[in-house]
Amino acid sequence: MSRPIYMDYHATTPVDPGVLEAMLPFFQEKFGNPASRNHPFGWDAESAVATAREQVAKLIGAREKEITFTAGASESNNLAIKGVLEFQRSKGNHLVTCATEHRSVIDTCRSLERKGLARVTVVPVDRHGCLDPRAVEAALTPQTVLISIMLANNEIGTIHPLAEIGRIAKRRGVLFHSDATQGVGKIPVGVDALVVDLLSLSAHKIYGPKGIGALYLRSKDPRVRIAPLTEGGGQERGLRSGTLNVPGIVGLGKACEIAAALMAEESKRLATLRDGLQQTLTRELDHVTLNGHPVERLPGNLNLSFSFVEAESLLMALNREIALSTGSACSSATLEPSYVLKALGKGDEIVHSSIRFGLGRFTTAAEVETVAKRVIAEVRRLRKLSPEYAMACAS
Ligand code: PMP
Repeated sequence: MSRPIYMDYHATTPVDPGVLEAMLPFFQEKFGNPASRNHPFGWDAESAVATAREQVAKLIGAREKEITFTAGASESNNLAIKGVLEFQRSKGNHLVTCATEHRSVIDTCRSLERKGLARVTVVPVDRHGCLDPRAVEAALTPQTVLISIMLANNEIGTIHPLAEIGRIAKRRGVLFHSDATQGVGKIPVGVDALVVDLLSLSAHKIYGPKGIGALYLRSKDPRVRIAPLTEGGGQERGLRSGTLNVPGIVGLGKACEIAAALMAEESKRLATLRDGLQQTLTRELDHVTLNGHPVERLPGNLNLSFSFVEAESLLMALNREIALSTGSACSSATLEPSYVLKALGKGDEIVHSSIRFGLGRFTTAAEVETVAKRVIAEVRRLRKLSPEYAMACAS
């Protein structure tokens, strides 16, 4: 059986061949520990980590010393939120975040709240998943220590106006964190232009390996200080103890370098393919709704609801040929309906019939065509079995 077409690039991405090639020596001949200061094995590893730190910093317009390597964006988000909260305990314990954040932000805030360690304000979004910066400002109190708002949403692709929020945060003297996992490497990200103080990213969303990521911490104006989550050997300036994952770090660095080189052309190509897919599906099928913002969204993202069709049934009918998803891979594990779509005010009908198409670096025009053809055929077939659809058509 041939491999299914992969159209789930928000869940994860394959490792780019250039990334794999850069990583391979660091498993065997260059296996040293960067903390080994007394021999070439350590020196080689240390220099590779320094290069990777430079590559990551460059992609987001940061300085090398502002990059802390972590095991991925979930850890970066935890470190950012818990680290700021603990460090700023004397100022207050109020956190401001938004309804469509990734679980690693929302659940971190909620668990701190449950333990009585924080107070949390969750700012709502509009029907496109957009956030009003004035609502963020209105939520601030003298005890607010951190605003955490994602750059781009992993289900609907909606891009938030970070710079506006960042300017508010700066004016009010509150630190601003962004989970930029889905945006980095796909749209231009500059920490100064976006006025962010902390930023999370992950390698496996940008054609790097899984289990490696980074947290950016602004070093000046303001200098961000956080408490670590892990104690130990004091690696990463004491912020993240533990022997560095050198092959992973090298892979993340290379992935950032490649993303920077390809971004302009890749994002244009993906947006064109995505728009074509959207046009074909909406032309050939009725009762199709776009979830997310029509313009302010990631180039490879398309989230559609096919009313009168259970998304799970559609995926099941297609999953040997096409890898798609209903939303975030994490929420799929719990089979809960998407809290992101619910936060947009979407009714059950729309939520349960939503499919996320995620296009990426290795998506071809031929694949998009096949996907469109198969989705159209299966939606038509499933709707033939639906009395509600027949009624909707008759009325
Ligand atoms: N934030 C967002 C927006 C994500 O999409 C993901 C991955 N689904 C994460 C955080 C978590 O990243 P990681 O898998 O590296 O922990």
